[in-house]
Amino acid sequence: MAVAEENQPDYFMPGDRVPASGIYRVIHEGHRAIHAVCAVKGDTFPDCRRCKNAVRFELWMEADYLNQDWDLSGPNLALAG
Ligand SMILES: [Zn+2]
Repeated sequence: MAVAEENQPDYFMPGDRVPASGIYRVIHEGHRAIHAVCAVKGDTFPDCRRCKNAVRFELWMEADYLNQDWDLSGPNLALAG
């Protein structure tokens, strides 16, 4: 069954670059239930202390980091001039 292929893989591995800031599901190999972390674009996904390179990260919800959002952190245009 063909699945639409996109440039980004579904899962990210330790050592991969974080492609977009947001909330990621962390999938461990058995020792821990899935949980969520927030990661910032450009970070590197770490390995797990326990399941090492078997851990996987899945983008759950993209969310800009506070100071990367133009409306929230851009220059205050009201004060200009
Ligand atoms: Zn783990």
